[in-house]
Amino acid sequence: MRLRLLWQLLPSFFLVILLTLFLLTWLFSRSLSDFYLEETASDLEARARLAAVQIAGRFDPLEIAALDPLSVRLGEESGTRFTFILPSGEVLADTLEDPLRMENHAGRPEILPAFSGEVGRATRYSHTVEKTMMFVAVPVLGDDGELVGIVRAAIPVTAIDRALHLVYERIALSGAFVLLLAAAAGVFISRRISRPLEAMRLGAERFARGDLSERLAAGGAEEIGALAAAMNSMARELDERMRTVVLQHSELEAVLSSMVEGVLAVDTEERLLRINRAAAALLGVVPEEVQGRRIQEAIRKADLQRFVARALAARDPVEGEVVLHGPEERYLQAHGTVLRGEDGEEFGALIVLNDITRLRRLENVRRDFVANVSHELKTPVTAIKGFVETLQEGALDNPDDARRFLEIITRQADRLNAIIDDLLALSRIEQGVEKGGLPLAQMPLRPVLEAAIQGCTLIVDEKQIQVNLFCSPELTARINAPLLEQAVVNLLTNAVKYSNPGAKVAIEAARWHDRITVRVQDWGCGIEKEHLPRLFERFYRVDKARSRTQGGTGLGLAIVKHIMQAHGGEVVVHSTPGHGSTFSLHLPLPENR
Ligand code: ADP
Repeated sequence: MRLRLLWQLLPSFFLVILLTLFLLTWLFSRSLSDFYLEETASDLEARARLAAVQIAGRFDPLEIAALDPLSVRLGEESGTRFTFILPSGEVLADTLEDPLRMENHAGRPEILPAFSGEVGRATRYSHTVEKTMMFVAVPVLGDDGELVGIVRAAIPVTAIDRALHLVYERIALSGAFVLLLAAAAGVFISRRISRPLEAMRLGAERFARGDLSERLAAGGAEEIGALAAAMNSMARELDERMRTVVLQHSELEAVLSSMVEGVLAVDTEERLLRINRAAAALLGVVPEEVQGRRIQEAIRKADLQRFVARALAARDPVEGEVVLHGPEERYLQAHGTVLRGEDGEEFGALIVLNDITRLRRLENVRRDFVANVSHELKTPVTAIKGFVETLQEGALDNPDDARRFLEIITRQADRLNAIIDDLLALSRIEQGVEKGGLPLAQMPLRPVLEAAIQGCTLIVDEKQIQVNLFCSPELTARINAPLLEQAVVNLLTNAVKYSNPGAKVAIEAARWHDRITVRVQDWGCGIEKEHLPRLFERFYRVDKARSRTQGGTGLGLAIVKHIMQAHGGEVVVHSTPGHGSTFSLHLPLPENR
């Protein structure tokens, strides 16, 4: 148990004071009573000698009758008990007692020295008066020097007891006062010490709570002042270090959260130490929820868990690919490095994740595109080669067959040409967009649409389609005229191709809300819903056979899409199978660009 400072100080204070008091009292009372007894003794001796003078020469048993009243008188006069004793020890007279009733006094300790001519002294309890008395016996010598009697004087020594009692009382009183003073001093001193200590304790608690702004007052004793100064400098140091740590922490936090790459750190137990926003978004978790938890339960991605285990086990940096399966597959490139502390001890691993899904998709698109192009080109080339071989093998001799085959060859060559033209057109538009945009100019739309219709006259007439144009001559837009014409030609061609002979097709251009829209509408076969999302991909066809027989390349809508991108606009399709389709080209207004 820890005592308060006061209770540690007071007992020692009191002990010292009490010991001193007892020692002093003892010494003082000893010397006082010694002095008193000495004084009393010499006083008694003087009285005894005076009495001895009074009765000198009358020490005789025959004088008893005269001596006894004398002893009474002397005793009364001086307040002393006198006893006159013969050298035989027989009592001649006594102030208080009948001498005849008193025994022989030769053996009394105070009497014994008197026999040899000295003054005897004794302090003892007297049964006669029932008090402690001091007895002083003086020898009375005759003229020739022999002992003729002894005079004994006695008084009670209770006075000294009374005197001492008084002294004790006063000492006890003043002792109590001193003790009170000592207690007060103890309280004062302990307050002086404990108050700054208490202030320091509160200060230390403040420091512990992290409130390092206030300093401790350096009051009190020098030692306490030094302690306060030491604690203040500790607080300053702590404050500085904490500021540095906080700064570093927020810098790190800022760096991590502004990184596009996903970063996560795990300890050797595979618990998540840290995860940045990008990583959390990639993995579909909330950073605050997963921090501190084991990766197995926090992030249920088998590929990632395997990679983390690999990174932790390896000594050197590792690289790998993590595939996140879900509604949409994501491809991540992962780099893992073991984390080491200052002592070189491993404490976890750092994983950096790069989302390469887009790259992967582009790769796939490119790969598919090459495969598609090859496939598309291969079909006419194979046909051409087949018919050429047939001709070589003798069909040439049959002029009818030869003409038919050559027509087919020409058609296939045209098709080849059409595909290559479309591919070239696509790549030209793409290149134009990459180089910083195609030249656009504000101009009326109607002439462009008319030119497009003009360009399609051949197939329109062939199928006897009625094309209706609705466009105000005043309507202008920021466009690249040849490209927009190409887009409308592609849409119009499709509309004609997928409509029944004699049907209608409408081309409409107007300003709707904050953009200009060119709509090409047909009432043909329409398109099933499931094809709509992929309709604008290169070589995508709803019905491959039908498209080919119609002379389609599968690139028409892809070109439209790219042309619209080059204009900063978009193409949207609405279609109902059996009822027809509407393709809308949305062009932004100049002020919206
Ligand atoms: P294609 O050269 O084969 O016409 P497109 O890219 O122009 O290639 O069109 C892709 C596919 O979209 C076509 O194969 C066709 O199935 C469908 N399609 C395009 N326009 C229409 C339309 N107006 N009506 C019905 N289907 C259409």
